[in-house]
Amino acid sequence: MNDKLNELKRLTTEIYDLRMSVALLEWDQQVNMPPAGGGARAAQMSLLSRQAHELGVSEKLGQLLEDLKPLYGELPPDSDDYALLRNVYRSYEQQQKIPVEYVSEFTQTTGEAFGVWARAKEKNDFASFRPWLEKIFDMRRQYAGFFAPYDHIYDPLLDDFEPGMKTAEVLGVFKVLRDEQVELLRELGNRPQVDDSFLSGHCDTDGQWALCREAVALIGYDLNRGRIDHAEHPFTTNFCRDDVRITTHIYEDNMMSAIFSSLHEGGHAIYEQGVAKELDRTPLGTGASLAIHESQSRLWENLVGRSREFLGCFYPRIQERFPRRFGGVALNDFYRAVNRVEPSLIRVEADEATYNLHVMLRMELEIALLERRITVADLPEIWREKMSEYLGVEPRNDSQGVLQDVHWACGMIGYFPTYALGNLISAQIWEQAAADLPDLAAQIGKGELASLREWLTGKLYRHGAKYYPSELVRMITGGGIDPRPYLNYLNRKYRAVYS
Ligand SMILES: [Zn+2]
Repeated sequence: MNDKLNELKRLTTEIYDLRMSVALLEWDQQVNMPPAGGGARAAQMSLLSRQAHELGVSEKLGQLLEDLKPLYGELPPDSDDYALLRNVYRSYEQQQKIPVEYVSEFTQTTGEAFGVWARAKEKNDFASFRPWLEKIFDMRRQYAGFFAPYDHIYDPLLDDFEPGMKTAEVLGVFKVLRDEQVELLRELGNRPQVDDSFLSGHCDTDGQWALCREAVALIGYDLNRGRIDHAEHPFTTNFCRDDVRITTHIYEDNMMSAIFSSLHEGGHAIYEQGVAKELDRTPLGTGASLAIHESQSRLWENLVGRSREFLGCFYPRIQERFPRRFGGVALNDFYRAVNRVEPSLIRVEADEATYNLHVMLRMELEIALLERRITVADLPEIWREKMSEYLGVEPRNDSQGVLQDVHWACGMIGYFPTYALGNLISAQIWEQAAADLPDLAAQIGKGELASLREWLTGKLYRHGAKYYPSELVRMITGGGIDPRPYLNYLNRKYRAVYS
């Protein structure tokens, strides 16, 4: 039996390495590749994805899983081997439902659509991207069909990013969030606005790079096992626990954007770097789900990065680097400025009090498109209407509207809700960390983040994908996903910032 288990491990590591090779090509596409390389790159990524998929549904793997069933029944449920088998059974059954030709066509389509989207966004030309987006949504409908019957057409798509999560549950949680967040927004809108005028203005690129590196090093991102590069849309990728890379986007006239997005991606990266060595290059050697991942990027970006304590320690470095711009700005004014609430057009630039509304808008559009209640051609206009309804602002062009995010071009439908779920989980985990580490605030104020990081590693990071998201949330907090801690955090923090 042990021979068979070792054979299974060898095979799943091969699949993992193929997938990580695709991820490396993808990283290169977004960081280094000249635009003309898109066609060939899409074909190369498609080839490797197909090989990974073929191995993942191969008779050989199926036979091994069949042979290992008795062992699976005997293993202790908290052992790594049990979790590995559970994970492989699940993905084998899922992948078996997806035809090889579909995988290849979808990878090819999204590979090319990425280049089309990037040019469309640059030229504000939604019409050129429209046929690609139509094809992507058609193909995602087809994908959901492979998993029929389902309660909701969105369920199979959501399940890819958030194992076990149902559309109805998310919509229920979002309903509570939307009502209370809109109410808070209305209340803050009636108070005098915070001045953040000193945040915009030219800050040279070299200085910004240095601060981004300092910020992520301070929270514990290990640059010996990682690197930072520039990309149109910031992201994190990993090829093993010792090679976890982040990207950022520097705006010369908006310095804090790159710093907070580096902290965000740094949070994702710390999670990946913290996965136990024994799980590396196995299907369990990565974060548990997107929402759990996002809970960590948001925790480091917002609960740590935008806190008075962290800024008390980091702001002097900003002042030192840019003395003419910030030398005369007091810490309290800076703290309030980076926590200013203002409905805006761009999701990745949105503040904590409005962010979830951007996410809900996208999820509603995705569902309406899948259900054919609207068409892709309608999107730019409906986008404007919904932005106006939820946030009271309207994009002047599609580059700032429907074309702003990369996700749909990459075929990632069902991804957006995980951002908001991540916010909720971040506050739930934070409450627990604060209870277990009584001097947490004081430590952060001194720039000592090791005990928080170690607490998170022990409770969460080291487990990788060994447990399902709902199991992890329960293990750490004792309950399920709950919007209350996040709403309490928002209400407390922003009523004080605007007091
Ligand atoms: Zn993220």
